Amino acid sequence: MREPALDLVIAALEKIREKSDHTPRASRTALARLQAADLARISVATISDLVDHESTSGSQLQAARNKTELLAAVDERVRACSKCAHLACSRTQTVFGVGNPNADLMFIGEAPGADEDQQGEPFVGRAGQLLTRILKAMNFGREDVYIANILKCRPDMPAGSFGNRPPTPTEMQTCRPYLLEQIQIIQPSVLVALGAVAVEGLLGTRRTMRELRGRWHTYNSIPLMITYHPAYLLRNQAPSEKRKVWEDMLQVMERLERPISERQRNYFL
Ligand code: SF4
Repeated sequence: MREPALDLVIAALEKIREKSDHTPRASRTALARLQAADLARISVATISDLVDHESTSGSQLQAARNKTELLAAVDERVRACSKCAHLACSRTQTVFGVGNPNADLMFIGEAPGADEDQQGEPFVGRAGQLLTRILKAMNFGREDVYIANILKCRPDMPAGSFGNRPPTPTEMQTCRPYLLEQIQIIQPSVLVALGAVAVEGLLGTRRTMRELRGRWHTYNSIPLMITYHPAYLLRNQAPSEKRKVWEDMLQVMERLERPISERQRNYFL
């Protein structure tokens, strides 16, 4: 009884194709319902209902849903993590990552600071606000990209002292597997590492930013751009330094085939 039912499906799909200018696609749910159903009794009209005009954005939505669930499972393990006992004791909360699980572009910083530790979100302090402004200049919102750190816990500080400290190589090595999982799930087209410490955490090498930034590297076959951490730009506000970061971001936009206006090309010149 299977063949007549398939004839009905094909007829319905051809009808849809004639009436619209894009190829009809079936959602996974629709396919599961078709497989489960007694196909011989399904009418053309019913199949038309089942085999919907799922567009590329529909598939993307499903992919994003799957990725959200996978990321949530990793986040759960991170929340319970105490591999660095000293950080598990001192943290207010873990800071997993934020943004679009289906993002083409992923930013990687070094570790949460005091603001991030309080709010549970990466890059929300002054440096984070600058990163948001850089994204806006690139015509991205924070919700379009994914932002995470090598370390998911704030590096602890001696009692009574203020500020933040960079993570140690051992701390980064211990936490890096969580970031790898995030990258594997998100599968961005481009990675951007912010600052030398993030690069050390990611690649395990310590080199100067002068040697590293402004050119393409690869990480697990993903193109990797290395640029200054926004905190560096807060310390050094010279237009020439802002321009360096912006040139790196122009390369990222080109790699992602994003439109670049003349005005964007000329920022900080
Ligand atoms: S820094 Fe990473 S590995 Fe260390 S306790 Fe926090 S989540 Fe676990």
